[in-house]
Amino acid sequence: MATVSKVLILGGTGEAVALAQALDAAFGPALAVVTSLAGRTKAPTRPLGDIRVGGFGGVPGLTQYLRDGGIDAVIDATHPFAARITANAVAACAATGVPRLRLDRPAWTPAPGDDWRLVPDLHAAAALLPALGGRAFLTVGSSDLGPFKEVPDVRLWARMIEPPAPEDLPKACTVIQGRGPFSLADEEAFLRENRIDILVTKNSGGAAAAAKLTAARGLGLPVVMVDRPPSPPGDSVPTAEDAVEWLRPLVP
Ligand code: NAP
Repeated sequence: MATVSKVLILGGTGEAVALAQALDAAFGPALAVVTSLAGRTKAPTRPLGDIRVGGFGGVPGLTQYLRDGGIDAVIDATHPFAARITANAVAACAATGVPRLRLDRPAWTPAPGDDWRLVPDLHAAAALLPALGGRAFLTVGSSDLGPFKEVPDVRLWARMIEPPAPEDLPKACTVIQGRGPFSLADEEAFLRENRIDILVTKNSGGAAAAAKLTAARGLGLPVVMVDRPPSPPGDSVPTAEDAVEWLRPLVP
């Protein structure tokens, strides 16, 4: 069996930061760890180990990077909705024979009292809004606002880490810059104060952003839940600790 002395983490999530830390604790200097960030966030949480920033240049660029960088394994810990880099990792690892693991936080599932409207994408979410209410809270990324530009008669509040490009901003939209975790008390207060009647979110999963769902349940608000893109083929684990165990037999 091939051994692993250098691993590439595809990052941009809290799980990727936790993974870099867990790998350092488990393997120390026996394993070199490089985390790759897309470079979208101006002040990202910095993981332990080496960091590289920016796109690779599609599948050919990532394939070349794996070869030139002496990468022995890839752990794709990117966000569940970052489908392009995940597909690129599948293709580049297949081309090079580098083992790949997907670290995928579990999706949220509805609890008793939830009123979820499941939709396949952001366009479907936008189309549903006028029938549900007049004041919607969007918890989406800064590049996700486009589909909401033409929604008639709905006032929008959009929370995101980075501000959107001005041309992406819907007319009746207040942008709130913020990075989780958010407390249940704060989420409830926000929904009440702004008399929100619809919550829109992608099914990102994870604890850091889950309080809004509990708050919406408590207030009896409908949640427009955008479903995840399909998972990649191959090995997948839900936590950083599981990823350490996947690597353990491969690190000398
Ligand atoms: P995406 O659509 O899957 O990827 C678009 C392109 O961005 C990729 O083709 C790749 O460029 C580059 N890229 C993405 N992630 C990268 C990484 N970790 N390292 C180097 N290049 C990367 O990705 P996205 O949805 O825009 O997400 C970008 C980053 O933000 C990811 O790291 C993701 O984990 C994080 N994030 C995304 C979301 C979300 O809702 N999508 C939420 C929170 C965090 P090349 O083809 O040139 O290599």
